[in-house]
Amino acid sequence: MSDPAPEHASGLATAGPADPEHDRTASYALDPGYVRALTDRVVSTTGESVPTYSPFTGQPLGAIPQSSTADVETAYRRAQRAQEAWAATPLEDRSRAMLALHDLILDRQDEIIDLVCWESGKARKHAFDEPLHVALTARYYARTAHEHLDPSRKAGVVPGLTRVEVNREPKGVVGVISPWNYPFTMALCDGLPALMAGNAVVHKPDAQTMLSALLGVQLLEEAGFPRDLWQVVAGPGRELGGPMIERSDYVCFTGSTATGKVIARQCADRLIGCSLELGGKNPILVLRDAAVDRAAEGAVRAAFSNAGQLCVSMERMFVADQVYDRFVARFVERTKAMRLGSGLEWGSDMGSLISKAQLDTVTAHVEDAVGKGARVLAGGRARPDLGPYFYEPTILEGVTPDMTCFGDETFGPVIALYRFHDEAEAVARANAGEYGLNASIYSRDGKRARAIARQIRCGTVNINEAFGATFASIDSPMGGMRQSGMGRRQGAEGIHRYTESQSVATQRVVRFAPMLGMSDQAYARMMTANLRLMNKLRRK
Ligand code: NAD
Repeated sequence: MSDPAPEHASGLATAGPADPEHDRTASYALDPGYVRALTDRVVSTTGESVPTYSPFTGQPLGAIPQSSTADVETAYRRAQRAQEAWAATPLEDRSRAMLALHDLILDRQDEIIDLVCWESGKARKHAFDEPLHVALTARYYARTAHEHLDPSRKAGVVPGLTRVEVNREPKGVVGVISPWNYPFTMALCDGLPALMAGNAVVHKPDAQTMLSALLGVQLLEEAGFPRDLWQVVAGPGRELGGPMIERSDYVCFTGSTATGKVIARQCADRLIGCSLELGGKNPILVLRDAAVDRAAEGAVRAAFSNAGQLCVSMERMFVADQVYDRFVARFVERTKAMRLGSGLEWGSDMGSLISKAQLDTVTAHVEDAVGKGARVLAGGRARPDLGPYFYEPTILEGVTPDMTCFGDETFGPVIALYRFHDEAEAVARANAGEYGLNASIYSRDGKRARAIARQIRCGTVNINEAFGATFASIDSPMGGMRQSGMGRRQGAEGIHRYTESQSVATQRVVRFAPMLGMSDQAYARMMTANLRLMNKLRRK
């Protein structure tokens, strides 16, 4: 789904918080001055704007100025100028700004979470993950800047006489295209390593969640990053994506697999690199020796965090025969006890879907499955009484390959349960399909679970956790195999993608040609003897 026109559910009662003490929106999101200070950052000369709406209530939140192709060009020109100065800024200064951002995000987390909740409709506890993840990312890249970016020495071809070092140069201007589901995290977490490596960013957030992204950009400036270093453009991806890719030195995209393929083709035409974080149909395996209670608690988070609108959340669950009945009873009980709610206060376990389009997909997947014989163990219906796009957390049993939700990503709060008899069969079923983003395994035997993890074709595997253990461990790479993506965010790979490596070799004394009257043939013989010797000495 790309930039659907947001639905304004007019006529619905406002389902905002009843307690005025919790109604912090007056001081942030709905104050026109506050909104204007954010939207002023969009590069826009069109005079046109598009309203955004809160999924909680269907009410408008603000008007987002729209960018033209010419505005995209302006954004790239500004970013390019800023990048030249930034690339010459010492790593210490870049790290200082990154750590200032870390502190600022923790200090301003209430404001960030309020805005994320209003724009995305998620529960407060799920919105908290966003400042948390960005702070972790900022700290990680600030503290590891030298490790990842300093010139590194390598083995030379002639030991002692060939000195080799590898430099890491910034690519230039990185185009970032981000989705709506984690609007603050997805806005910043991929751009921060790009900045750390000396690049500038031109960013197009999803139209439905522009304000959360713009707040992130405002915080960057407050933390000490040069204002022009991060440019924001707004408008439909289909229109702005092409002009952005035309001007980018590298593209970082997060979104659907269908759009990812379009982006990859456009980048191929220009021979520029891209990283693609795409969709998934993630499996969770509960082995016969799993701690059933822990697995049931984890399954709730795995399937229903952010109402299932999470690239790494689980939609397929394979449970061992030996624990199936006990596990399902606990999982269903916990799911039925979840508190659904709109508004900014803590205390609800799940919020709204973001849009009517998401609600329609979820409804269609569940109706199709039920119509073809699947059983609903929990949920299975929309909740318009709570807000226009609410849908209950839903557990299905008896899902078969002819049902849409068997292999297609729902991207909503729906999980299908499958019983398995032997583990090899469960692994094969988990690996079936096109995707390979994230998996989870519950077992009391860590060693056995890690051995099974090696057989799973997913970019991340969490043991005794849903997705947080890998996603929050910023030192390790995160991303998808197969149709779930290309390239990795986080860790060394997450920053090196934004650099060009340059090898510089200094040759001393000997040269790569015959010396002292030696014939070409004698030189070839000497070099052959040399190679044999090096192999005997076990040199690399
Ligand atoms: P989408 O691909 O439609 O949109 C994502 C972004 O791409 C938006 O900013 C949109 O404006 C832009 N876009 C759309 N068409 C474009 C085009 N032709 N050229 C350039 N940009 C374009 O995705 P969506 O359906 O809104 O988002 C949900 C999908 O994103 C799900 O499939 C989910 O799995 C995936 N996702 C993946 C991750 C991850 O890290 N792997 C994270 C979040 C979401």
